[in-house]
Amino acid sequence: MELIESAEAFHFRAQQLREAGKIIGFVPTMGALHQGHLSLIELAASTCDVVAVSIFVNPTQFNDAADLERYPRDLEKDRTLLSQTRCELLFVPTVKEIYPKADKRVFDFGSLDKVMEGKYRPGHFNGVAQVVSRLFEITQPHKAFFGEKDFQQLVLIRAMVHQLNLDVQIVAAPIIREPDGLAMSSRNANLTPAQRKSAPLIADTLFKSRNFAASNDIDATRAEVIEKINLDPNLEVEYFEIVDGLSLERVDNWAESDYIVGCIAVFAGKVRLIDNVVYKSR
Ligand code: AMP
Repeated sequence: MELIESAEAFHFRAQQLREAGKIIGFVPTMGALHQGHLSLIELAASTCDVVAVSIFVNPTQFNDAADLERYPRDLEKDRTLLSQTRCELLFVPTVKEIYPKADKRVFDFGSLDKVMEGKYRPGHFNGVAQVVSRLFEITQPHKAFFGEKDFQQLVLIRAMVHQLNLDVQIVAAPIIREPDGLAMSSRNANLTPAQRKSAPLIADTLFKSRNFAASNDIDATRAEVIEKINLDPNLEVEYFEIVDGLSLERVDNWAESDYIVGCIAVFAGKVRLIDNVVYKSR
């Protein structure tokens, strides 16, 4: 595995590979890697000639300085993990490499970034669009791989690719979970033992709500999920929205859309966890 820190050097390498006819698969991450990240790398390796991974904790997508500060970082461990995968190119840039000048671009995603994560983390998706578009420019991928765990992010990235008319195929990968159901996340490392014990209630409640939904309306399903999770003193729901999987607009009844997803954010102390469940899939 080749470690590259300079944007220019990475771009040059990517150009060489493209000219040699290689299909580049790219997996952007913020590090503190886990099986969720590794599953994206495996998927990329199964459909591409070369897998490139980036590790960059992007300051412009954090609306809370303390959250950025607390974000777990362990490059040595990440490199060891990656050396056991089919990742060939690892890009670990500094902030200056990604943003030689402050990125002033403001994206317009209509209503897509006004709800859920976008509502509670203002500016978050603008930062995500800035960093992902810049990373695409440097890494020149044919395909880029994103987890369905960050469901709204996936919708936003697709919108961005469309808006900027980029020639990158966005591939979605399913959520990887701990044996007890908790969605894997770098942030799980910041949970106290008591919070970690409570956290699987989020996924458990979401899964059970699929049965509940079969004989209850959307409002009741929404209320049931929020109430059940909030009963645990270690957990507090920030939002739970049942939305159309493409427009991200709230749906009022189950017949309104053929693609319905429930997206949740929950605080366990200061640790913010997100997850989602598909009620109706396309
Ligand atoms: P992050 O390092 O948290 O920015 O995540 C990098 C990529 O890994 C994003 O596309 C995430 O959606 C994806 N990812 C994170 N956690 C999981 C998971 N548990 N299962 C699948 N993909 C994930």
